[in-house]
Amino acid sequence: MIFFNPAGGPELACDDCGCRWFDRMSGTCYECGAPVSEESQAEYRRALEAFALRRSREKEGT
Ligand SMILES: [Zn+2]
Repeated sequence: MIFFNPAGGPELACDDCGCRWFDRMSGTCYECGAPVSEESQAEYRRALEAFALRRSREKEGT
């Protein structure tokens, strides 16, 4: 699942325990060891890209 922090940035969280600590090398949760699905990782990357795009637009002004 994906959380959004107060700054609006996406954070990937474990589907099983809800913690936000992942071992990016093995793609598993630090807390419970549940694997992070490829789907979740792809969703997170898209959210990150959208966030980066939004931020760069805000910086430029309209
Ligand atoms: Zn977990």
